[in-house]
Amino acid sequence: MDKNKRTLSFQDLGKQIVLIIYGLSSLFLAKGTISPSESRFLYSVSGTTSPQDWKTIEEDEQLRRKSLLYSLMSQYLSRDVASIERYIVDHVEHTLARTRFNFDKFDAYLATALSVRDRLIESWNDTQQYFTEAGVKRAYYLSMEFLMGRQLQNALINLGIHDQYREALKELGFDLSTLEDEEPEPGLGNGGLGRLAACYMDSLATLNYPVWGYGIRYQYGMFEQKIKDGNQIEIPDFWLAKGNPWEMQRLDVTYPVQFYGNVIVTNKDGKLQVHWEGGQMVRAIAYDIPVPGFDTYNVLNLRLWSSSPPEEFDLEAFNRGDYFSSIGEKQMAEKLTSVLYPNDSTEAGKELRLKQQYFFVSATLQDIMRRFKKLQLPIQQLVNKAAIQLNDTHPTIAIPELLRLLIDKEGLGWEEAWDLTVQTFSYTNHTVLPEALEKWPVPLMERLLPRHMQIIYEINRRHLECVSQMFPNDEQILENVSLIEDGFPKMVRMASLAVVGSHRVNGVAALHSELVKKQLFPHFAVMTPDKFLNITNGVTPRRWILEANPALSSVFTRWLETDDWITDTRLLSQLEQFQESDDFLRQIEEAKRFNKQQLALRISQLFGFQVDSNALFDIQVKRIHEYKRQLLNILGVIHRYLFIKQSDTEQRKSIVPRVVVFAGKAAASYAQAKRIIRLINGVCSVVNNDPSIGDLLKVFFLPNYNVSLAEEIIPASDISQHISTAGMEASGTSNMKFVMNGGLILGTMDGANIEILENIGKENIFIFGLNSDQVLDARKRNEEFQLDPRLEKVKQEIANGTFCNQKVAEPILSCLIPKNDFYMIGRDFPSYLEAQDAIDQAFKNRKGWIKKTVCAMARVYYFSSDRAVEQYAQKIWNIEPAPFIPSTISFKD
Ligand SMILES: *Cc1c(COP(=O)(O)O)cnc(C)c1O
Repeated sequence: MDKNKRTLSFQDLGKQIVLIIYGLSSLFLAKGTISPSESRFLYSVSGTTSPQDWKTIEEDEQLRRKSLLYSLMSQYLSRDVASIERYIVDHVEHTLARTRFNFDKFDAYLATALSVRDRLIESWNDTQQYFTEAGVKRAYYLSMEFLMGRQLQNALINLGIHDQYREALKELGFDLSTLEDEEPEPGLGNGGLGRLAACYMDSLATLNYPVWGYGIRYQYGMFEQKIKDGNQIEIPDFWLAKGNPWEMQRLDVTYPVQFYGNVIVTNKDGKLQVHWEGGQMVRAIAYDIPVPGFDTYNVLNLRLWSSSPPEEFDLEAFNRGDYFSSIGEKQMAEKLTSVLYPNDSTEAGKELRLKQQYFFVSATLQDIMRRFKKLQLPIQQLVNKAAIQLNDTHPTIAIPELLRLLIDKEGLGWEEAWDLTVQTFSYTNHTVLPEALEKWPVPLMERLLPRHMQIIYEINRRHLECVSQMFPNDEQILENVSLIEDGFPKMVRMASLAVVGSHRVNGVAALHSELVKKQLFPHFAVMTPDKFLNITNGVTPRRWILEANPALSSVFTRWLETDDWITDTRLLSQLEQFQESDDFLRQIEEAKRFNKQQLALRISQLFGFQVDSNALFDIQVKRIHEYKRQLLNILGVIHRYLFIKQSDTEQRKSIVPRVVVFAGKAAASYAQAKRIIRLINGVCSVVNNDPSIGDLLKVFFLPNYNVSLAEEIIPASDISQHISTAGMEASGTSNMKFVMNGGLILGTMDGANIEILENIGKENIFIFGLNSDQVLDARKRNEEFQLDPRLEKVKQEIANGTFCNQKVAEPILSCLIPKNDFYMIGRDFPSYLEAQDAIDQAFKNRKGWIKKTVCAMARVYYFSSDRAVEQYAQKIWNIEPAPFIPSTISFKD
């Protein structure tokens, strides 16, 4: 990697703009209109550290004093090893108050992280200042989850100072990668949806888009999973226990958030005014996390809200001497953001979850409005300065909230407020599973958010009026498209509200976006066809190739003779031309072997088994869910086990040895998913301890799947499984990560698998099973059919109690009865085994296999999140990149 590239390119570009900005700033100064936020930026581009050049400054005593401040702040932290050593030691001594005799590995990690944060703050301030002064339109990415993964390595690599830090720490007696492992993972998300938000932040920063992320700072992230006697145990994850060096608490950025209370209408000079009064107040405090881009100076902001009691909490109770109940209220407020909810189990109707959503949305909109108001533009200009993206329906309450602010606070009429709102919002749908679509009971909404419920009713009234004009006298359609679902109690359909209140609605893969239109919102799609579009998900090549797989990355850079592929994955397509070079194929194979050996090492640490790194590594890692069909996988494993057991020595010679790896968490309340985990672990212990199997099959369940574990596992795969029942996985993103790392996919025609196939060619992917139309058809007919005899044998073995007790086995076996088999495991089983056989045959041809992986890696470039965010920027947000380029960099020393 070219370590000096950043500095050099900044200086070159800087020279070109220095004259322009010099002219502009002189003009501003001369006119006395220089903005109150004269920054390091303006001062440093004047090309001087000497105030003499600035006559106006000399004349102005106040500015003269400021100039000292500017010149000090216009210098950047140095990038050389000796300075870095000093910055780290400074933090050990002055921030952590440790002596040289009593600081341990974690302290060393903290001091290192704090010193990296210092330089992130410099660029972060400059970037935000620049966005403000350039007056750019910003996009706001609202997500209840950001699964960021560890920050230290990412920040060092994106800033281009990983090598210098490694060197500095070595000099101080520490190993950087050991310290990187000290970082607790911030698990502020469940899985794919939260990880997508994190990949998008990385790409947005790298491509210099002016975007803010907004979310919640949960005190307890995703639970830590332990496996005890084969069962999942959930341990609370208090990830902040030892402090978080990556966040800045902003006690200057707080907002009140209101709940409950009453709506009062007053008549002021013949004009009706609506007030929402009383109820409970909670305070939102901002925590800012800088998000650096790769090879750019830009650093974006991820603002997470934490709840706290209002400054004056129930003083009345306090005065009544009711001290304890007033403290009780304080604790209530603190509880609001304490825990992340699971997104993939049906834990609907939880009041605290709705409170979290509104809390997050209310604080975020107040913040966006405050930023907009600083521009002193008419409120109608909001759409030209802000685009708000809803990551799934979780922040949908933002739609009535913005309406409320525009109508009740800004005094706009309904129609104008509505148009402005719709033009500002857009919504990403992440699921077509009906049970996963958010609904909230009307009585709960009325109690918690009385004004919003009124507004939702009014949106619905006008919406249904439009619908009945388009489809006259059709009660059925009205019922289907109503934002309120009839029943006891009535429910608010959040996805429908999100569709009506947004100007763009996107699905996350081509098939999924079609299903969104045809299955989920057929009438909306007829009424407003132009609203709907597809943006296929992507993942960041920084974390998922460069950081997770340095061995492969250096092969890429060596053969492409540039590392530009890190920011332009299209360059990877040129790898295909090296297919005929044995040298290239050998290096690709060696990188894969190295990664498999690393995973083998981890397996031996965890389980004490030595696995053969020449075996085929077959991996399925993702949330445990029935539709993702880990069950199909483990049934296949049991079949393989039984097949090996009944094979003689001669037959065994032709069997390809396999190491099967599972990982993933089940929602704590999802009983069936937890049974599947129990069954998998039962199979692990039977198979791994059966001496008659030898090295032909080993099976492991790696506990506590998270981003860090994913970074270890994914580079080591030969095959990964993405075998959801067709039509049920919106996109999947780990399928993309695996192919980028030279693993092939065993998958169904579902989600992004379909587009991956189209891009990499059908000879480089193993596809099986019913397609989504066939699944719907089979469900409709629900015909009896004969189970494959091999599956019958597997079921028998489970029923015998070989792997788990009856309490676990029975509910699993009952789902395999054809008429109960909603997920089509029985129907897909034969073609699944065929595909597995094809994999074994293909793997025996070593060279052929490596060539396949090369083709796949070379052709998968479309699935970079850089491409995805560019599409959001162009097709939805209408925003432009705004790279900040410091003209001169002078270093602090
Ligand atoms: C990428 C990723 C996911 C999403 O995996 P899918 O297989 O697409 O469901 C979930 N969890 C983590 C930690 C990830 O990195």
